[in-house]
Amino acid sequence: MRKIENFIAGEYVAAASGRRFDKRSPLDNRVIASIAEAGRAEVDAAVGAARGALAGDWGRLSTEQRVELLYGVANEITRRFDDFVEAEMADTGQPAHVMKQVFIPRGAANFKVFADVVKNVASESFQTATPDGRGALNYALRVPKGVIGVICPWNAPFMLMTWKVGPALACGNAVVVKPSEESPQTAALLGEVMNAVGIPKGVYNVVQGFGPDSAGEFVTQHPGVDAITFTGETRTGAAIMKAASEGMRDVSFELGGKNAGIVFADCDFEAAVEGIFRSAFLNSGQVCLGTERVYVERPIFERFVQALKVKAESVRFGRPDDHDANYGPLISQEHRQKVLSYYRKALEEGATLVTGGGVPEMPGELAEGAWVQPTIWTGLPESAAVVREEIFGPCCHIRPFDAEDEVVQLANATDYGLSTTLWTNDLARAHRLAARVEVGITWINSWFLRDLRTAFGGAKQSGIGREGGVHSLEFYTETRNVCVKL
Ligand code: NDP
Repeated sequence: MRKIENFIAGEYVAAASGRRFDKRSPLDNRVIASIAEAGRAEVDAAVGAARGALAGDWGRLSTEQRVELLYGVANEITRRFDDFVEAEMADTGQPAHVMKQVFIPRGAANFKVFADVVKNVASESFQTATPDGRGALNYALRVPKGVIGVICPWNAPFMLMTWKVGPALACGNAVVVKPSEESPQTAALLGEVMNAVGIPKGVYNVVQGFGPDSAGEFVTQHPGVDAITFTGETRTGAAIMKAASEGMRDVSFELGGKNAGIVFADCDFEAAVEGIFRSAFLNSGQVCLGTERVYVERPIFERFVQALKVKAESVRFGRPDDHDANYGPLISQEHRQKVLSYYRKALEEGATLVTGGGVPEMPGELAEGAWVQPTIWTGLPESAAVVREEIFGPCCHIRPFDAEDEVVQLANATDYGLSTTLWTNDLARAHRLAARVEVGITWINSWFLRDLRTAFGGAKQSGIGREGGVHSLEFYTETRNVCVKL
């Protein structure tokens, strides 16, 4: 069994209180790690170390020196690729190919991409006319915001954590990271990378623990934290926003979603089925951008439902390193209870069960894991809880539609506004709809195709602010204007 500690000022440290908690494997519910739970003392030490780094070596580096160090971080992650894959697989139970093709490479890319952004982006300047005719020159300086509190979820832990730590460090900030209690390992491992590359001590700190009345809340309440970036549930975002209001600290929020998939009859049918299959079921449905509501134009509705059913029934459950398997469990027993409660609720609300709805039979010790079947329903009204609330599991409800205006209205009838995936070969219609659907990102004939230079974030209750490319600079720096009378 592994022991995972906090990482503060370049050292791995237990909690002064001696408190620890267990991390269980989603595959078989075995305890796989013992985690040190940070208290206020550790959070104080981490924030102090971060402030020390800003006042010391880290704060004195030039942009070029910082950029070189971050390239080093990306390269060292790539060198230790297998260790990161192994740690993330242990925490999440998801298949090796997803880790190897998406989550871990994206973690390394997050350091390179934002190093490039910071190196290459120009700051604004204006020549200003003055009455004496000599004029003035205005130019902008970008300075780091200070200590950034980074609060992360468990569904793609390394990718989502580095998506924040990469730009934060590229902009010259120091960070205190609080990973989810369900996925503590890769954030801890990144400490070794930081030390190996020579990132000054205190720039990257990790405090392990829970949210309320634990490390998460202690970070967000800490007056030495200058801004908070958070990915997680909308409800948690509201609690963090309250904490951030003390001291007028800035927040960047990437929150929940109840995303619509829209499929027109003129689509490339096979591609649309494959696209919706991925968007509903990848990572066992634990993707904020996933589609739990699918709207299919009536002429192809029955055929589409049948084709998606066939694909959903073709998944092969098993361990991440089992070459015959391609499908993992949910993150925890607790999350499985939540997802299964929605599976029951769907039937109570009158859904027609197309496939799934329960727990697969697993052999031996895997029977203790957090497995659930990919599930498809039809026949529910839009008012059903299963159609309105984020479930965050491998499931979707499919409903037919007849007209463009109707489907726009259906897609927008939600408090969330994160993403949409839209399938049609009529490009004029695709662009028309993309402008009308109230979300942060619309994918046309694709899903989860990300260019890290583009703006990412949610509308409505799916988030506050945008991250990605130059948009990240808006949050991770303060812009100062300098006005020079000529
Ligand atoms: P949670 O909101 O439950 O938790 C996220 C993090 O916040 C965890 O580290 C948690 O700690 C911590 N936390 C909980 N309460 C507090 C608090 N009061 N103060 C400070 N920190 C707190 O989200 P999940 O981990 O369950 O992640 C799933 C959610 O994330 C889904 O809603 C999903 O849609 C969303 N998400 C959004 C994305 C986006 O880009 N918009 C991307 C990925 C996920 P702990 O869990 O250890 O108690």
